[in-house]
Amino acid sequence: MSHIKANLADFDYEEMSDILSGMKPFRKDQLFDAVTQFKSYEEVTNLPKSIIENLKEKYYDRALRVEKIFDSKDKSQKYLFALNDMNIIEGVYMPHNYGDTLCVSTQVGCRMGCAFCASGLNGLVRNLTAGEILSQVLCVNRLKGGTKKSRAITNVTLMGSGEPLDNFENTVKFLKMVSHPKGLNISLRNVSLSTCGIVPRIIELADMGLQVTLSISLHAPTDKKRNEIMPINKAYGLFGLIEAVKYYFAKTKRRVIFEYTLIDNKNDDKESAEELSKLVKGLPCHINLINLNPIKEKGLKAANSGRVKEFMDILDKNNISNTLRRSMGADIEGACGQLRNSYVKEGSFY
Ligand code: SAH
Repeated sequence: MSHIKANLADFDYEEMSDILSGMKPFRKDQLFDAVTQFKSYEEVTNLPKSIIENLKEKYYDRALRVEKIFDSKDKSQKYLFALNDMNIIEGVYMPHNYGDTLCVSTQVGCRMGCAFCASGLNGLVRNLTAGEILSQVLCVNRLKGGTKKSRAITNVTLMGSGEPLDNFENTVKFLKMVSHPKGLNISLRNVSLSTCGIVPRIIELADMGLQVTLSISLHAPTDKKRNEIMPINKAYGLFGLIEAVKYYFAKTKRRVIFEYTLIDNKNDDKESAEELSKLVKGLPCHINLINLNPIKEKGLKAANSGRVKEFMDILDKNNISNTLRRSMGADIEGACGQLRNSYVKEGSFY
């Protein structure tokens, strides 16, 4: 099913004028405010009824609605959102001491096929529009009692289902929208974009000079090992990826994060820790280790705690900045794509 109508949230502040052509300029601010606050048409009382009726015919007031919320013991929450074409996507809300973070999806499904990840189990269904990516933030910000001025969501990660750089145009538009002064105005320094490593797109992003934090899903320190768990590596190998990371830093001066999911007997050995240290030595970067959240269908196991410690000790010994990320929401299938998969499969939505 494709979209029947566009969503109001797909229009950025400048484009909003086209929707309201012929109207007084202040109407644009009123409508943009309403969209930013995730209001329904019924709640927009400061615009004349005739305008609302006209808009209703052409556009959806909201790009998505909450289908279900799962609460984790650790206070994180998983949101299942239903899009207007009935596709389901997921987002994860994580309260932190530095601010509350929302992890959002950029695609329905994914075509990258990483061995440990649930998002791509059934391939790519479709790209999300910029408004659909943004609406995940608008929706949860509202549910958590946030407003435009006082945001409940202060940090965003593009780390949910999908590969953001495989949906480049919409992702870039989203970045501009979420940080727009007339919108939620979230600083791009508080937004991280996580990618499996589509090298030409990293270069393109660097050239745009946006201040977004780049996270690279690395997961293995050599081409041989990375090819086994991340098919993208066969197209863009580690040498080019590291060059792209250097370029990103040169252009943005933003330290890059490497994500490294520890998988039993695949990438959690001492040799890998040494190889990883060598690979990133001298780069302005930080390594985010996370233990695997095992996916039933994949037959991979998490590294045991002894191996995790050994791995970290080697990185420490080599002076490589690293932390072990708490795996939030494991009890609610917090890892990418996990929840959507079991939900869609059980057929409770369709
Ligand atoms: N396509 C993007 C964003 C989605 S994956 C990318 O490749 O970066 C983002 C991160 O989710 C991965 O780097 C990994 O750290 C984490 N992740 C995905 N599946 C996981 C799993 N089963 N267990 C633990 N972490 C997982």
